[in-house]
This record gives sequence, structure tokens and C-alpha cells, in this order.
Amino acid sequence: MSKETVQIGNPIIRTKSRRESSVPSAQTRKTVSRLIDSMRENDLVGMAAPQIGSNVRIFVTEIRKTKVRNPALQDSLRVFINPKIIVSSKREVLGWEGCGSVAFSGLFGKVRRPYSVTVQAQDIEGAVFELKASGLLARIIQHEVDHLNGVLFTDRADPKTYMSTNEYRAARQRATA
Ligand SMILES: [Zn+2]
Repeated sequence: MSKETVQIGNPIIRTKSRRESSVPSAQTRKTVSRLIDSMRENDLVGMAAPQIGSNVRIFVTEIRKTKVRNPALQDSLRVFINPKIIVSSKREVLGWEGCGSVAFSGLFGKVRRPYSVTVQAQDIEGAVFELKASGLLARIIQHEVDHLNGVLFTDRADPKTYMSTNEYRAARQRATA
């Protein structure tokens, strides 16, 4: 069993993470591999290094197939090292978010964010790439970049929208029925 996801209230979650200066390196690979394992084990669509106790600017994303997820939203595994959002769309959208570090994904809330972003980052080999993302992937990227700055979705959500996991699932089912 892997270590528990670091929770809200732990200072690591509120610390601004440092740039990872040694890319590629064995240490970076180890962090990335732990992130991927932990993201999958906790059934999350993204995970940032502070959530596994490491204040370095690294996160991973993966939108896997589930029974309820629209297949069009699926996105394969991506690794972002030293990410920087260089363009954000003026258009903003409201969307639901939860977080493995907030009551172990037991709380959902609506957060307003730019609909699309362009992010620049390094891959596992240290090569710089740019990615333009929109919709769910753009939301995940912004949520994970926030983690590297010590920011949680609860800082941005309207608390009146909060729902427990069960109520959130029930509401989603009603919405798609
Ligand atoms: Zn999170």
C-alpha cells in the first residue's frame, strides 16, 4: 500500500514548490513514477508532487476510461515538470472539482476557470514542450498548477456549491437522466 495522500492542513500542501533543476535525473523519474502510481491507486485524474509530500514543481494527468465518463474526454498519461501557464482564454467556465488532498476526494465544489490554457513544461527527458488544452484537461492542468503554488480548489470554489461525494454523484446522475 502506498502512503496516504497529503491532506489539507498539512503545511506541505500550502507551500510554494521549488523548480526541479535536475531534469532528467533518477530523482525526477522516481517522483514521477510515485505520482503515477498514487494517481491511479487513488482513482484521480491528476496528481501534483506536494500531494505525495514533495514540494517540487511536477504533476501528472491521465483521464482514464470509466463507466460514467464521456469517452471523448479520455486523455492519455502526461507528465509536466516546471509547468508554466503562458496563455489563458478570456472565456471562463464553471466546472465541478474535487481533490485527493481535500477530505480524500470527499468534497466537490464548482470552480470558475479559463476554458482553455496553453502550458509550457519539460518532459521526463528535460525537453521543453507546449500544450494547448481546453475543457476538462485545461481544468485539471490549472488545478494541478495551483497545487504547486499552495492553492486548493476550495480557495476558488463557491462554498454554497459544496457537495459530498454521494450527493455529487446523485446530482450528476439526475443531470444526465
Ligand atoms: Zn487536487
